[in-house]
Amino acid sequence: MNDLAPTDPAALVARLRATFRSGRTRPLDWRERQLTRLRTLLSEHREDLADALHADLGKPRAEAYRSEVDFSIREIDHTLEHLAEWLRPQHVDVSGVFGDAASAGTQYDPLGVVLVIAPWNYPAQLLLVPVAGALAAGNAVVVKPSELAPATSALVADLLPRYLDTDAVAVVEGGVPETTALLTQRFDHIFYTGNGTVGRIVMRAAAEHLTPVTLELGGKSPVFVDAGVDTAETARRLARAKFANAGQTCVAPDYVLTDPDTARALEADLAKAVEELYGPDPAASDAYGRIVNERHFDRLSGLLGSGRVVTGGQTDRAAKYIAPTVLAGVRPDEPVMREEIFGPVLPIVEVADLDEAIAFINDRDKPLALYAFTDSADTRGRIAAETSSGGLGFGLPMAHLSVPELPFGGVGESGMGAYHGPHSIAVFSHRKARLDVPLGS
Ligand code: NAD
Repeated sequence: MNDLAPTDPAALVARLRATFRSGRTRPLDWRERQLTRLRTLLSEHREDLADALHADLGKPRAEAYRSEVDFSIREIDHTLEHLAEWLRPQHVDVSGVFGDAASAGTQYDPLGVVLVIAPWNYPAQLLLVPVAGALAAGNAVVVKPSELAPATSALVADLLPRYLDTDAVAVVEGGVPETTALLTQRFDHIFYTGNGTVGRIVMRAAAEHLTPVTLELGGKSPVFVDAGVDTAETARRLARAKFANAGQTCVAPDYVLTDPDTARALEADLAKAVEELYGPDPAASDAYGRIVNERHFDRLSGLLGSGRVVTGGQTDRAAKYIAPTVLAGVRPDEPVMREEIFGPVLPIVEVADLDEAIAFINDRDKPLALYAFTDSADTRGRIAAETSSGGLGFGLPMAHLSVPELPFGGVGESGMGAYHGPHSIAVFSHRKARLDVPLGS
């Protein structure tokens, strides 16, 4: 916990609530100032953030800038550009019911004090983008970084109070005991990103206070590769998405479904694509990351025995290194297909055709993302109509979350609620109905 925040969660929340009730966080210029300050923090501490991300995850610098610092800056810039317009009250016509002098509409009200709990895999982006949304919507925020990314957590705890309004924003560092203590408090919204087991704990705690939750969870995001596509280009795009952050991305392609002939071509092209990206020895490449800790390293090493290794398979526990690995001919009942992989291992599962692929996907939990490579508009139409997933991407895995106007979130086991851009304002506000009927009418 930073030194500006009291150690008692009840006192902390009471302090932020007093700020919120004073009305200080509501005006547009307060919100814009906080966002601008957050942007300044990101640009002034690009290097420090990249250092912390490297210490936590061996995150390559280019990746730290692209997917954490610059990603967050773009989201803030987009919000600053459109915030006034997003907050404008919406009108509905009630003249037919209440006469011409009456008016009605909706306005966005801030919720109050919100809690943002972030995970370790993109420990800056997945913390700061929700915080930006909560501030843009005019809330006070308790910020809980992940203890599994300790360098980033410490840096954020040091920096946020130096840039943001400390009466309205507080960072609480720590693990399960600290989060459990926080969760006993009444918040006006809880925004949690992480796994479904903890998601359930958060939702249970929130239920005590009837606090609404956004749960940004994970799961196995499938990729369908249609017969006849350009497998070399498909492999390049798949490998870039899968092996970024050493596969520790919630929307990373988890596994590939394709027919046996396409699988053969794709296997060879994936091996080539990995070499193009990271050279003959990815362990020596400064473009390739590491596994967050030994527990995840051991879990992932245990998944390498499924199917046949096409490329990769090498591991080094001391360095928490797992090579970018492609496994072919994997059966649906093998360990690697039973849980979210969340690491640099890409299984290929053979299916006869699109019907079987759709059935395979629908037999399992609704994924956070579903991807397909196909030249057929009919196939795209069928996948869009016959499957359910948080997001759907044709041709370029993971890119949908960089479009701020698109809602980012899951469905079913992959979560509830969605954010980014205007959707963050909707998440962190109450849309209040308002009816004005003059006395004289
Ligand atoms: P994690 O272990 O860092 O946990 C996330 C947060 O939950 C942390 O702040 C942690 O302190 C807190 N926490 C952990 N145990 C708790 C408990 N018992 N009670 C209360 N709080 C607790 O991260 P993780 O869960 O390992 O993250 C990986 C998962 O998150 C994957 O399933 C991934 O797919 C998912 N994810 C989803 C998204 C998304 O945007 N949908 C993004 C990233 C990760």
